Amino acid sequence: MTSPSGLVVAIDGPSGTGKSTISKRVAADLGLAYLDTGAMYRALTWWCLHQGIDLTDTDAVAAQARAMPLRIGTDPARPSFAVGEHDVTTRIRTSDISTRVSAVATNLAVRAELQERQRAEIAAEGRPGGFSQGRGIVAEGRDITTVVAPQAQVRILLLADEHARLARRSNELHGRVDAEAIEATRDQVLRRDAEDGTVSNFSTAAPGVIPVDTSQMSLDEAVAVVRDLVEATR
Ligand code: C5P
Repeated sequence: MTSPSGLVVAIDGPSGTGKSTISKRVAADLGLAYLDTGAMYRALTWWCLHQGIDLTDTDAVAAQARAMPLRIGTDPARPSFAVGEHDVTTRIRTSDISTRVSAVATNLAVRAELQERQRAEIAAEGRPGGFSQGRGIVAEGRDITTVVAPQAQVRILLLADEHARLARRSNELHGRVDAEAIEATRDQVLRRDAEDGTVSNFSTAAPGVIPVDTSQMSLDEAVAVVRDLVEATR
């Protein structure tokens, strides 16, 4: 890949670590673009279902990964995703997509294609013309620190214990953190991470990747820790 001249901040971690919120806030504070790579797997899931494609047909899904007319808005204040003429920014957040996306994200041919697109987005933000005008990008996902952008100047793995992760996701999805809501969240967080963990390792930090455990941190504290790590490299 072309090495981007802008700053690249790679952030990985499982669900419920605060990854998306922290990444968006750090990008906004530092004038960087923001790329949510999980949303790309979600957009492809939506696109395949929209066309009636069986998600277990790995060749058909991989062909759609190559053909998908995806457009990504990288402004951290309003990230957006469109496929052809369909704005899918909110449609890719339904629990139906959340439940089915692992079938797409564990398809290795899909991963190869979307990883290439992610590298192209990251490289584009190192040049004038993108949202950040060459300042750079915060890219978050599961394999950004290790596979998509192992050359990133800042590489962080966000972690949190199971209780903290379930409570945060439960609050997001159900607006409550009682036992019933946590139980209803368990499948989405733990089953999905277990399935997705078969194709990328996002539970231990690779050499050179800085682990940050957010279990005991407020969102503001976690944002400050990540922002300090980024500023320390500038
Ligand atoms: O983070 P989010 O829930 O939006 O991710 C959607 C799906 O894409 C999940 O199954 C996640 O594990 C997968 N994913 C991935 N590689 C990435 C980002 C997300 O496999 N870089």
